[in-house]
Amino acid sequence: MTISSPSASSASPAPLASGKPDRESGCVACPPACDCHFHVFTARESSPGARYQPAYTASFGDWRALSGKAGIGRGIVVQPSFLGADNRLLLQTLQQAPEALRGVAVVADNVNLVEMRRLHDTGVRGIRLNLMGMNDDAEHLRALPSAWWGNLMASGMHLELHADVGRIATLLPWVPSGVTVVLDHFAKPAAANADDPTLRAVQRRAGNGDAVYITLSGVYRLGGSDERSGSMPGNDHARALARLWLDVLGSKRLLWGSDWPCTNHEAHADYDRLRSQLDWLIADDATRAAILADNPAALYWRA
Ligand SMILES: [Zn+2]
Repeated sequence: MTISSPSASSASPAPLASGKPDRESGCVACPPACDCHFHVFTARESSPGARYQPAYTASFGDWRALSGKAGIGRGIVVQPSFLGADNRLLLQTLQQAPEALRGVAVVADNVNLVEMRRLHDTGVRGIRLNLMGMNDDAEHLRALPSAWWGNLMASGMHLELHADVGRIATLLPWVPSGVTVVLDHFAKPAAANADDPTLRAVQRRAGNGDAVYITLSGVYRLGGSDERSGSMPGNDHARALARLWLDVLGSKRLLWGSDWPCTNHEAHADYDRLRSQLDWLIADDATRAAILADNPAALYWRA
């Protein structure tokens, strides 16, 4: 007699239609693979005074179609610099797919805890400080009120820090202890070398017990001669950095992001290539599954 019971089917969950990371076996309820850094914006919309205004629209629908084909089932929407602290589109996007999306917002220096909790309730899990191009980047960080940091931690958010190449070693000591930090674009060290000040600064902070995550993303934003060649995946600097970060922090502290649609570097915005670049950066299947699925689930989908 053939029995088909609900309990039998629930004991063997159907594989996810999409978003399943590469795994050998043994994963019963794997979280979907996650793109930890992409942007949405509308053509010709930017905050007053922004240095850049996009000429095209990058929609959530576009991202979902591209990422879905590449096997990505979750995403982290990161507020682009040119929208400032106007998070309306970010929040609207999160509400379109609350199970599959989390966000990283930008807030004012005087943001209060009520607003931070409102953002968290809508799916925001990180606050971005974009210090790119600022001559006084460290001063900006130093000047943030202690209430700002207190509200960040009290609302269960982490800090996503984006800065110029070689600046993290100067900036990181100004981030209070207890704050979880995500560093975009490999943290942009000046050199792929274990003695580079960026690697040492991150190692020191992690050694003090503070979680630091590195997003493997934006290879074309790392500077150096490979940027001009436009060869992807062919960037030895990025691969050397990926290995160094794996050595320094271990597999649980790495994330992957497409950086789609690669603002100001749109020639690189081929989603399948961006995704397959990770296979080239990280050859080991189990490590890649941690980077694609387990680590984002632990950082962005806990509580
Ligand atoms: Zn980006």
